[in-house]
Amino acid sequence: RTIAQLDAELTACRACPRLVAWREQVAHEKRAAFSDENYWGKPVPGLGPADARLLLIGLAPAAHGGNRTGRMFTGDRSGDFLIAAMHAAGLTNQPTSVSAYDGLRLLGTRVTAPVHCAPPGNKPTTVERDTCRRWLTTELTLLAPTLRSIVVLGGWGWQAALPALSESGWEIPTPKPRFGHGAHVELAPAARGHSPVHLFGAYHPSQQNTFTGRLTPAMLEQVLRDAAQAAGL
Ligand code: SF4
Repeated sequence: RTIAQLDAELTACRACPRLVAWREQVAHEKRAAFSDENYWGKPVPGLGPADARLLLIGLAPAAHGGNRTGRMFTGDRSGDFLIAAMHAAGLTNQPTSVSAYDGLRLLGTRVTAPVHCAPPGNKPTTVERDTCRRWLTTELTLLAPTLRSIVVLGGWGWQAALPALSESGWEIPTPKPRFGHGAHVELAPAARGHSPVHLFGAYHPSQQNTFTGRLTPAMLEQVLRDAAQAAGL
């Protein structure tokens, strides 16, 4: 199995009835500003090269962002904020992420999410989180040969990522590492062929955080630079 195969299989997933109904309802009804667009309305796969050294893990696609454009962090405010910060840290070829056809390339970096379908209110249930984890576990396993550094965006993603990291072959220390902006812990490999991985935490670039100034561009850029350096990028 390759990352490309994983992405293709993922887009056909219908394991969560509530999220299948919501993603399709949003795609049918649309937001007025995008009424002439064909919404994606399916699971949104990870974005970036199969030999990434750095992985960013968010939360879930936005109803009118990734669920519309079919690409992670594309076409909404969170994406604008994240891609600009990634570009400032040297991780993308351009500072904007508007559509799946805008020429954006991620450099040595992949972006994914613990839940791949847009949830109502941006809040997946714990059952949905646990159901989707098999995709993240597989993605981590496939990336393991090159993966050296991970940034988890937000505490919810952090809680979802730790069991997936354990299942895909890294040791999670006890007590479990706590999420915080700038949190940094090195995970030892528990599977043959894996290398140690640097795990970083950063606040999620949601509008609750960016509009209030809880997360500034400089704060996110700093974590991304630290993670890129740890990954040898
Ligand atoms: Fe499948 Fe994940 Fe979407 Fe649930 S959230 S339907 S497991 S892709």
